[in-house]
Amino acid sequence: MYQATIKEAIEFEGIGLHTGEYSKIRLHPDDSYNGVRFFIKGEYIPANYKYVVNTRYSTDLGKGDKIIKTVEHLMAVLYALGIDNLVIEVLEGWEVPAMDGSGYLFYKNLKELIQKLDREKEVFEIKAPIAVKNCTAKIEALPCSRFIAEYVGSVEGLYKDYRVRFKGNAKELVFARTFCYDYQVETLRKAGLAKGGSLENAVVFGKDGKVYNSEGLRSKDEPIRHKLLDLIGDLSLLGKHIKGRIISYYGGHSLNYDFIKYLAGL
Ligand code: ZN
Repeated sequence: MYQATIKEAIEFEGIGLHTGEYSKIRLHPDDSYNGVRFFIKGEYIPANYKYVVNTRYSTDLGKGDKIIKTVEHLMAVLYALGIDNLVIEVLEGWEVPAMDGSGYLFYKNLKELIQKLDREKEVFEIKAPIAVKNCTAKIEALPCSRFIAEYVGSVEGLYKDYRVRFKGNAKELVFARTFCYDYQVETLRKAGLAKGGSLENAVVFGKDGKVYNSEGLRSKDEPIRHKLLDLIGDLSLLGKHIKGRIISYYGGHSLNYDFIKYLAGL
């Protein structure tokens, strides 16, 4: 399996989900084998777990006083498409644009631009079963001949212990939008988060499974697929292609981060 970059530069712009500020990024081809790097106000921030500065409601990277928020959906699309060398220049704002709350627009535009490079991917192989837990969730890793990721989760009022699986087809994941429950909106706003969130870029559920968005869900399991998208985006911060089967039971960004740190320490 070879590393890849993109054939030409491409821009994405829009409001940031949490900052609510307009943001614009330009993805540049890069064949220097330095992985995916953000470039913000004169500083390179590698898309690597070592630069994670926040995992509450989003995965944010930072170095010194420079921060780039909510990298996970773009990172998941890059990982799923096998694009592992890029410079992502942050032209305005300090968050990856939310787009429609999913990875779809990144995927749609990037899938045509993949440029193979001459070097093999660096692989991280899961050699023995591993589990990392916190009080409510668990991530397991099992040896496997390829990368498989699974998420088991629930949506209040709809289903419990619902499992979705990614075996390499990005299309099955990228459409899934960010979601939250109506009773969380006030807490999020009070924490200074979700300032850019709306029914344009997030699905909002009621406790009884009610969907506030007039267009409804894109698939019955859209929120679980989104959690899987988040997991893959966070796993990409290991900076290597994972050979193994990863299964998250109710995990979120914080446990994903603990899990990557655990892997990196093996
Ligand atoms: Zn997400």
